[in-house]
Amino acid sequence: MIVCKFGGTSVASAEQIKKVTNIVQSNPKRKIVVVSAPGKRFSDDIKVTDLLIDLADAVLKNSEVEEKLQNVINRYKDIAAGLGLDNKICEVIEQDLRERIALKVDQELFIDTLKASGEDNNAKLIAEYFNSIGIPAKYVSPKEGLVVNNPPERTFALTETYENLKDLGKGKESIVFPGFFGYTKDGVLRTFDRGGSDITGSILAAAVGAELYENFTDVDCVFSANPKVVNDPIGIEEITYREMRELSYAGFSVFHDEALIPVFKLAIPVNIKNTNNPSAPGTRIVPTRKPNGRPVIGIAADHGFSTLYVSKYLMNREVGFGRKLLQIIEEENISYEHTPSGVDDISVILRSDQLTPEKEDRIVKRVKEELHADDVYFRHGFSMIVIVGEGMRNNTGLAARAASVISSTGANIEMINQGSSEVSLVFGVLQQYENQCLRALYEEFFSPVIV
Ligand code: ASP
Repeated sequence: MIVCKFGGTSVASAEQIKKVTNIVQSNPKRKIVVVSAPGKRFSDDIKVTDLLIDLADAVLKNSEVEEKLQNVINRYKDIAAGLGLDNKICEVIEQDLRERIALKVDQELFIDTLKASGEDNNAKLIAEYFNSIGIPAKYVSPKEGLVVNNPPERTFALTETYENLKDLGKGKESIVFPGFFGYTKDGVLRTFDRGGSDITGSILAAAVGAELYENFTDVDCVFSANPKVVNDPIGIEEITYREMRELSYAGFSVFHDEALIPVFKLAIPVNIKNTNNPSAPGTRIVPTRKPNGRPVIGIAADHGFSTLYVSKYLMNREVGFGRKLLQIIEEENISYEHTPSGVDDISVILRSDQLTPEKEDRIVKRVKEELHADDVYFRHGFSMIVIVGEGMRNNTGLAARAASVISSTGANIEMINQGSSEVSLVFGVLQQYENQCLRALYEEFFSPVIV
């Protein structure tokens, strides 16, 4: 069996849903179809999920709701009309939305309830369409087994989900399952992170032991570098889970990084494909791959990092220094990314959006007072450039090449980090050098011929 997930642009209009239908029909193994909410139809369009967040906001603020509600309903009306469905399904959707609005409860959970209606109602509509053209299909709600944890932790599926859903798709009908959310044991709806329909697809693929998880989007493949920065980067045919994880850490957003976990555990391959060009082979994410002649498979870059610099004479001899430092960070509810260190100094690299001036002041004060550090300060505005490839392990001199390319752009390397797996090499530079570094590194490792 194949689980296939269709992202927002793939289900944004009647025309797109017809393409989805052809894809599903062309392979009888595609029994489980996971759908997003209608996404953008053109670049300035607004995703239904964003319309719903806006609507939820208006409800919570007791401001004008009706127009925002109609904007959402109209998106479904357009789709239903284009698919030749009668208005009944739109009445069902309208009633569902009004019921959700009436539930106005705890702020965060209320927003989740409205947000999730985007995928939920789209799944109902698409199942209805499949049946109307003779594809036996059933809408299945996540209520039937996709069990998630309780707040306040970020949402993840509990292990019983996999047992609950193991027989999904074993009947005659195709299953249309909404992405993006599940229910707690007490029946409370919770959404995953944005882009979380990828996670639902992966959970279902693992639950039914699918032979393949197909993730349909609007690009032909994952590219070896950001095509908005690097001119015409080559596409990636095959990539390991580990390589994909490292690249998505620094901005490769084609596939949600949390979505790798369920399929990784069962070694189920993932195929990223294009709804608008389904015959293109796409990118396969697999447990292991054959070397392709290049040590590097992709180069990613992301900005918005800060560093906390701490130095103290004889730090290296002080038992527990690192733990105490990280505990202070933890107590501010901040996660950290890297901790490069010298003999008497250590930097903690963090995502800047977790910091506030108050938090920074508190951290600096506590590190000085409690750890008796000599020098403590924050710096902001860093980018992380991540060079990824399983082939790097067996390639000497790669770090030297990368460092020399980066310095040729004029950027100072503020940090270098190589994990012991040697699948990735991370360089910290000032944000203004990010794009130059990315282009220069791409040139070095991908052009013009195979290394
Ligand atoms: N519709 C949700 C979003 O826009 C989830 C998804 O499409 O994966 O984030």
